[in-house]
Amino acid sequence: MKIAILSDVHGNLEALTAVFQDMRGRAVERIFFLGDAVGYGADPGPCIELLEKSAFLFVAGNHDLAAANDQDRLECFHEDAATAIRWTRGTLAQEAKERLRRLPLEWREEGVHLVHGSPYRPDRWEYVMSAKEAERGFGASDSTVIFVGHSHVPAAYIEVERKRLFTGVIRRIRGADPASLRLEPPFRYLLNVGSVGQPRDGDPRAAYAVFEPESGRYTMLRVAYDVERAARKIRRAGLPEGLAERLKTGN
Ligand code: ZN
Repeated sequence: MKIAILSDVHGNLEALTAVFQDMRGRAVERIFFLGDAVGYGADPGPCIELLEKSAFLFVAGNHDLAAANDQDRLECFHEDAATAIRWTRGTLAQEAKERLRRLPLEWREEGVHLVHGSPYRPDRWEYVMSAKEAERGFGASDSTVIFVGHSHVPAAYIEVERKRLFTGVIRRIRGADPASLRLEPPFRYLLNVGSVGQPRDGDPRAAYAVFEPESGRYTMLRVAYDVERAARKIRRAGLPEGLAERLKTGN
């Protein structure tokens, strides 16, 4: 079975549509979504709808919950992010917010763990950007494969040897494009699938991953989309200019 793992769409319908198109060509059978359907981009409602319709599993991101909870004071967000969340609150239907509020923070099934930030206290939205943070994530999970998003930077960490009950030596794998790995037991993997709607690794193309549990094959993919159109919609919505500009550089 081919499973696509997507994260951080952030209201970018152009990027999401392009990824769906790409998935069709790869005969993907199931979609796991790691959260942040909304925030930053101009199409939060349509993105939620498309993901709800197609994703087999959908866990909450910090922007999803902040946009769904009007009383959240947004202290943890940068200025542009907070502005976009306030705008998103005004745009989303109440029913959509209710559905976002009901999303689970994580999902564990058959050796696979899905979470937006880190398995370590999912409600704290910790980033996994270093071996140390990956170690903390491995320590909070007993799954063989952990999929995360949140940082918008694709990354792969492998636990090559267990020292203690749960964590061991963690290495970061640096990969080519498209990076392909074969996930093999007894090793464990923590994989950041990057961001569909607002990549921050210097490559403006949408990022997502395909995983085949039977063979262990994991592939990171990039998909070009109409960045100009997504940026234009952000401007037209009156959202901060920086949110439109950063789509072009992928930073
Ligand atoms: Zn995000």
